Order: sequence, then structure tokens, then C-alpha cells
Amino acid sequence: MRQTLVAGNWKMNGSLEVNQQLLNGIKAGVAEGISAKVVVCPPAIYIPQVASLLNGSNVSWGGQNVSQEKSGAFTGEVSADMLLDHQCEYVIVGHSERRALYGESDELVAQKYSAAQAAGLIPLLCVGELLEEREAGDTESVVARQLDAVIDKVGIAAIGMGIIAYEPVWAIGTGKTASPQQAQEVHAFIRQRVAEKDADVAEKVQILYGGSVKPDNAAELFAMTDIDGGLIGGASLDAEGFLAICRAG
Ligand code: PEP
Repeated sequence: MRQTLVAGNWKMNGSLEVNQQLLNGIKAGVAEGISAKVVVCPPAIYIPQVASLLNGSNVSWGGQNVSQEKSGAFTGEVSADMLLDHQCEYVIVGHSERRALYGESDELVAQKYSAAQAAGLIPLLCVGELLEEREAGDTESVVARQLDAVIDKVGIAAIGMGIIAYEPVWAIGTGKTASPQQAQEVHAFIRQRVAEKDADVAEKVQILYGGSVKPDNAAELFAMTDIDGGLIGGASLDAEGFLAICRAG
């Protein structure tokens, strides 16, 4: 039985004051009892604030990105060890915004996954197709290519120690959600692809759905056989809405 996990990706949003209110709200709601594992991923600069406010709570935190390098002359980058210094457990790798806006290739994403995991973080690997790829019938080949790049680099056992998020790019931040059936089809495909290498890993690995998940559609998505929770962007910036999604798990 896989535990539901709900992770909030704050993207480049927040301020010290806004974060404090949001985190106090999330903490209070989670303290009342939520069965899902709850994670927040703030901008890197706010990770120390989040660590100090969430310390001792049942909410975990992680980065939105990580360097593939350990240290050195890489201006603007944040290493896995730096995230660990602030008690991050998770890190998002391969988010579609990083792939599209910052040119992250499948190979680079695989290197980041590898670096994160070698350091002891749980990588949350995002995969997903563009609208034109879906319309061309290429959803499975795109997702397979993105997944295989990581499997080829780190091996299948390492996939079992991470998390996969299926995020159709056309559903991210657009208000358009994949239907539960559309999402389930791709989740089942991903799990099958993993099973071809290792059935135990496939059974165990959590596969989250991301793309305009809101309080009113979370329960039907999370009820699908192969959907083990969500990666939440916009709706993770409101404590009540985020908690409602977490409770749907
Ligand atoms: C995301 O950023 O990963 C995401 C799913 O965003 P949204 O929920 O806003 O679509």
C-alpha cells in the first residue's frame, strides 16, 4: 500500500511574511491529523525560514531544483549538500518550467537526479508531455524518453527510492486538468514501464499527478489506482486550499 504524498511547489512566490502565515496555517491543519505525507518546496532562499518554522511538525520540505555539481564555480547554483544542511528531504528535478525555460535536457535532469540521490535527498522527478505532443499521439513516447534517461543513468533501484510526478505541461498553471482517466492511463503506463525493469520497484514507487490540482478535483484524481498523490503549484499557496487537497489523499 503506497502512502499518498502531496507536495506544494511554491515556484517563485512568497515573502518572509506571506510564508509565515502560509506555514502556520498548514502546520495547524496538519496537526489536526492528515493521513497524507505533506511536503512544501519553497524558493531556495526561504528554505532556512521554512526549516525553522516546520521543525518538529509533520510537514517535510524540499528544494525546487538542485545542481548536478557538488561544489565549485557554478554561480547561482545550489547543491544537494546545501539543501541537506537545511534538513530538506526532497528535491524537485526536471520540472517542465526548468526544462522549457532553462533548457534542462533529459541528460541534465538525469545528472541532477543522480546527484540528489547520491547525497541522500529524495528526488521528485517530473515528466510530462506538451499539448502538441499529446495531440500528435506522442504522450507515451515522450514520458518514456524522459523516464528512461533517468533509469539509464541511475538504475532501476534508484527509481524506487525516488518519486515520479506525471505533469502534463498543458495542465500546469492553465486551469486545465487531465481527467482522472487521462491521468490514470499515463500513470499506469509509467508504472508498467518501471515494472518491465523491476516489478517490486513498480509496485512501491509513488507516482504523483500534477497540473491544476484544486480542492474540487483532488479526490477523484487521488482515487485512481496508480495516482499516489499530487504535486501542487498555484493551489499550494493558500493554506486552506492546500490542506483540502491534502485531506483528499
Ligand atoms: C506545478 O508547478 O508543478 C504545478 C502542477 O502547477 P499548477 O498546480 O499550478 O498547475
